[in-house]
Amino acid sequence: MKFEMTNKDYMNYLENVSRVISENKDYITALDAKTGDGDHWVNMNMGFQKVLEERDTINEMNLSDMFKKIAMLIMNGVGGSSGVLYGCAYIGAAKALKGKDCIDQNNLVEILEAQMQAIMERGKAEPGQKTMIDPLYQGVEEMKKALAWGVSIEVAIEDLKSGAHSGMEATRDMEAVKGRASYQKNKGMGELDPGAVTMYYQIVELVDYIKTIFK
Ligand code: ADP
Ligand code: MG
Repeated sequence: MKFEMTNKDYMNYLENVSRVISENKDYITALDAKTGDGDHWVNMNMGFQKVLEERDTINEMNLSDMFKKIAMLIMNGVGGSSGVLYGCAYIGAAKALKGKDCIDQNNLVEILEAQMQAIMERGKAEPGQKTMIDPLYQGVEEMKKALAWGVSIEVAIEDLKSGAHSGMEATRDMEAVKGRASYQKNKGMGELDPGAVTMYYQIVELVDYIKTIFK
């Protein structure tokens, strides 16, 4: 099977993400209150709202320009580390998408890796440091492993999702090295990282959306 995720599909996907983020306000806010300063939900929710407000304009853009526009909206409109980091992630993805008119089974890994690389560079962080990077890293690793074994894309994206789940869960037993949780005495030990949880939601929604557009 194959899929072609167009700019309009991507906006539909972001609408789903926005809904899931908004439904989890109390949970995310409580997590960031324990390990950080409690604003992670506000930041993420604001980011997706800003992007969706521009939906009509964005829908007319090619994918690469659309990702650049999303980056600018998030960077200018969202506070906190997550505003800057997601802004950079979308700029990284825009570069990877140059000249491509859709996200498909051949370039999905490349785009996710470009986002991860951009976050790692901007945040000067690595996997294993209790951040939003962990679910993305683990998900992409599992997906690449699956593809290397020759499994179908339908199976590989399920591995992306389950890997992201493991990566998110693993942050519970990690000590924060970056971000506000690292200023805490116990380095956030025993709690999930809020940024890892919202990254996991985005990966779940991405996989679930792709499943609806397989041909
Ligand atoms: P702030 O920490 O500035 O209040 P947010 O609350 O919006 O910003 O985002 C916090 C999340 O950002 C953390 O849970 C973590 O996942 C992520 N994060 C913080 N610093 C870094 C970093 N240097 N690299 C990668 N991710 C980071
Ligand atoms: Mg915060």
